[in-house]
Amino acid sequence: MGRPTYVQVTEVGTRDGFQAEKEFIPTATKIQLINALIDAGVPRIEFSSFVSPRAIPQLADVVDVLGGINRTPDTRLAALVPNPRGAAAAAAAGVDEMVVFVSASESHNLKNVNRSIDESLSGVEEIMRIASIDGVEVHGAVPTSFGCPFEGDVSVEALARVVGHYHKMGMRHVSLGDTTGMATPKLVTAACQHLQDKFPDMHIALHFHNTRGIGLCNVMAGLDEGISAYEASFGGLGGCPFAPGATGNICTEDLVFLLHEMDIETGIDIRKLCAIAREVENVVARQLPGQVMKAGLREDIYSMDEGATAVG
Ligand code: ZN
Repeated sequence: MGRPTYVQVTEVGTRDGFQAEKEFIPTATKIQLINALIDAGVPRIEFSSFVSPRAIPQLADVVDVLGGINRTPDTRLAALVPNPRGAAAAAAAGVDEMVVFVSASESHNLKNVNRSIDESLSGVEEIMRIASIDGVEVHGAVPTSFGCPFEGDVSVEALARVVGHYHKMGMRHVSLGDTTGMATPKLVTAACQHLQDKFPDMHIALHFHNTRGIGLCNVMAGLDEGISAYEASFGGLGGCPFAPGATGNICTEDLVFLLHEMDIETGIDIRKLCAIAREVENVVARQLPGQVMKAGLREDIYSMDEGATAVG
């Protein structure tokens, strides 16, 4: 399959990135950032989670955040939904999409939600029922798609088992999550080919972490398999619970820079995106791993009087 000419970028920073932040980020700040993302042309935002406020206090303001967003038909607003109760709340609040999750690895699922994969899947069935009443689209995420911190390798068959259940329930969008940064281009190619073979009408999205520095290499492998949906976080915000100090999600601006330089459209204004990432650095009060927001674009050339000369 050829590379896509358009890629749908999903921003997950205010959910996946913020959930790891200990200090509560004011609701107004979250709303302002999400509205800026919409203004920058981001077509899909996983903006928060309908998780128990006790589990993740940072995201307890999900309903207020949604209420403050300047919604337009051009940006889909998705929320993570961990259980039927969250699904009912998400439907009542009026999200565009719900995202459910079941790990490909049994031990990760147990550790993450204290349930077996099969127990989680029956919960998803109930969520699908709730979502269908309001006609809300459900996307299925699969954490540990490319490896598990407790089990090591995750076979493509184990991955296909969860995706197959999603498919049977009527889902047509799946996101393969590289939760702890264990994906490699070889594994990405194998997983995409296997799933596209088995479920040709399933739309696959890829959610990579840059934990080992090869997040964008994995994107390249996905593009070569024709995958046209990627999830990323502004500034590369996020972490890895098993690797203190390691980076988390791939960085949205760096991803968009790569895509644009390959003549792949995203509909996103990268300068606005870089400004948002710098704003996020202010919000979390530390430097983030994103590179393009620091270096600028290729067309940002300097006058010859500026800067020191260097070789190397
Ligand atoms: Zn992530």
